[in-house]
Amino acid sequence: MSKFDIRKKKAFVCDLDGTLFMGPHPIKPAVDFVIENTKSGRFCFFYLTNNTSKTPAEYMKKIAGANIPVEPDQILTPLITLEEYIREKGYRSVYLVASAAVVKHMDERLRDVGVHFGFDPERNELAALAYDKELTYDKLQKLTTLWNMRNGGNAAVGLKTVEGGPIDFVATHPDNCCPSEAGPIPDVGGMLKFLEATNGMKPSHVFGKPSPSLLQPVLLQFAKDEIAVVGDRLYTDKAIADNAGVDFVCVLSGETTPADLEKYTGTPPAIIVETFDQVDCQ
Ligand SMILES: [Mg+2]
Repeated sequence: MSKFDIRKKKAFVCDLDGTLFMGPHPIKPAVDFVIENTKSGRFCFFYLTNNTSKTPAEYMKKIAGANIPVEPDQILTPLITLEEYIREKGYRSVYLVASAAVVKHMDERLRDVGVHFGFDPERNELAALAYDKELTYDKLQKLTTLWNMRNGGNAAVGLKTVEGGPIDFVATHPDNCCPSEAGPIPDVGGMLKFLEATNGMKPSHVFGKPSPSLLQPVLLQFAKDEIAVVGDRLYTDKAIADNAGVDFVCVLSGETTPADLEKYTGTPPAIIVETFDQVDCQ
């Protein structure tokens, strides 16, 4: 018997792809539920996405475009964690593989500490991989070249080793694929496997779900039993809820199927619904 108690809930942390949207299209009943409860003030909503192909501003536009009232501090993406990581480590030279809009966003966010974004094998301290829908062979080659020159793997081809010690390498999230109307399409997890197969390069950190660090802004405002994560994926959405010690509402509007839930050996979700609006609020 589930201990899920809707009367205690004050904040829902909502996954986007497969929960409120399918590709560019809103999942209408779920979105209507969010609009109604935002306007009535019954629940606070946060929007959690591992998808780093867009900037937080672009996500705000997508959410506002579905008529959901939204403020910047309601958007939670691993780009926030990446920014904090660069600040904490004090890195000043970063090769970021991401869309031009995301690189520009990160450059603006970190301008106050003078971080330079660009491929610079002599100076780069960090290589970072985001969900880059503008990915090219040239970018992949630059990542492997940085690793070869700074972290070994170059002796066989006589590549010049650059001074400066090993380079750090991180990825924004672990997802193997992104759901779309055309089925699963490649995401960062797949790109990481491609790189590892090339020269053994592996990230020191992978941000995003299921790392609970992304929920920190919500955990500072609400008690754990007041929060629920809502999502369509067991290995990211349920995992971040489990890692943060909060309830998980599983929706069947995205990746997870009833057959997946039957096979699932972990603790079951607090509740399972077809779409988010079917959460019983009585
Ligand atoms: Mg999802």
